[in-house]
Amino acid sequence: MKIAFIGLGNMGGGMAANLIKAGHAVRAFDLSEDALAHARNNGCETFADAAEAVHGVDAVVTMLPNGAIVKSVYQDSVIGKAPAGAVLLDCSTIDVATAKTVIAEAEAAGYAMVDAPVSGGIAAANGGTLTFMVGGTDEAFKRASKVLESMGKAVIHAGAAGAGQTAKICNNMLLAIHMIGTAEAMRMAERLGLDPQKFYEISSQSSGMNWSLNTYTPMPGVGAASPADNDYQGGFATALMLKDLRLAMAAAEEAGAAVPLGSRAAALYEDFAGAGHGGLDFSAIIKTY
Ligand code: NAD
Repeated sequence: MKIAFIGLGNMGGGMAANLIKAGHAVRAFDLSEDALAHARNNGCETFADAAEAVHGVDAVVTMLPNGAIVKSVYQDSVIGKAPAGAVLLDCSTIDVATAKTVIAEAEAAGYAMVDAPVSGGIAAANGGTLTFMVGGTDEAFKRASKVLESMGKAVIHAGAAGAGQTAKICNNMLLAIHMIGTAEAMRMAERLGLDPQKFYEISSQSSGMNWSLNTYTPMPGVGAASPADNDYQGGFATALMLKDLRLAMAAAEEAGAAVPLGSRAAALYEDFAGAGHGGLDFSAIIKTY
C-alpha cells in the first residue's frame, strides 16, 4: 500500500518505520526537519508539505499533538487533497468532539475515516506492539485494520466515530485513579509499620490487586520492575497523563457524567506537573505522599 504519514515524532517515527518493515511505501511529512531526516533514514520518502505527501495514496495516518492541529491538517491538507478512495486514520489522542467533527467532514467529502488512538508508549510504537482502539463504521474499521495491523498487536473496534477516543480517555482516567489509590495505600501501609514489599505480596494477590500495583509498582525496589526503579525516568510522562485527564474532564462535562474521583485525580496531577514534575513517569505521584 502507499501510505501518507503526518506527524513523525516520538510515536509516529517508530510507527512509520513499522509500516516500511511491513512492505508499505510511506510518504512522510512533519514540521520538524529532524523528524523528517529520521524518517528518511527509516526508508520513508519525505515531502515539503502535507498536501503533497497525501498525493496518490491509499491511506493517510496522522499522529499529531492535539485536536486543533489534527483539525487544521485534515481541513487544509488531507480532505480534498488525498484521493477519493483513501482511508484516513487519526491515531493522535484528541478530544472526542473534534474527532467526531473531523470524521464527519471527511465522510461528507466521501472518505472513510476512523479515530484510532493507541495504548502503549514509545517502546510499543517502536516495537510494533501498540493496541489501537478504533471508532468508525464497520467498513472504515475493516479498511483501517489492514494498516493498523502492521503497527500493533491488537486492533479493537470500539464503536462509532469518536468511540476510540472515548475508550482511550476513560481507560487513562481509570489508570490515573488506580495509580493514585495504589500510591496512597502503599504509603499508608508503610506509615502504619507494614513492610511495603509484604503489602505488595499480599495486596497483589488480594482484592486490592490492580495493574498499577501488580505490574507498574510505584515504589522503588518493591514489587514489579517499573520506572520507579529507574528514578521515574522513561515510561508514561506525567505531562501526557495530565493531557489525557484534561481531555477526560472536558468529555465528562460535555456528557454530564459524574467523575468525582477522576476530577480529584486530574487536580492531583495538575499540582504535580505544576510543581515541575511533568517529565517524570506518572507513577512518581507517590512522591507527594
Ligand atoms: P511528539 O511531539 O513527539 O510528535 C508530534 C509530531 O507532530 C512532532 O514531530 C511535530 O513536529 C509534528 N507536528 C506538529 N504539528 C504538525 C503539523 N501541523 N504538521 C505536521 N507535523 C506536525 O508527540 P508524540 O509523543 O509522538 O505524541 C503524538 C500523539 O500520540 C499525541 O496525541 C499523544 O497524546 C499520543 N500518545 C503519545 C504517547 C507517548 O507515550 N508519547 C502514548 C500514547 C499516545
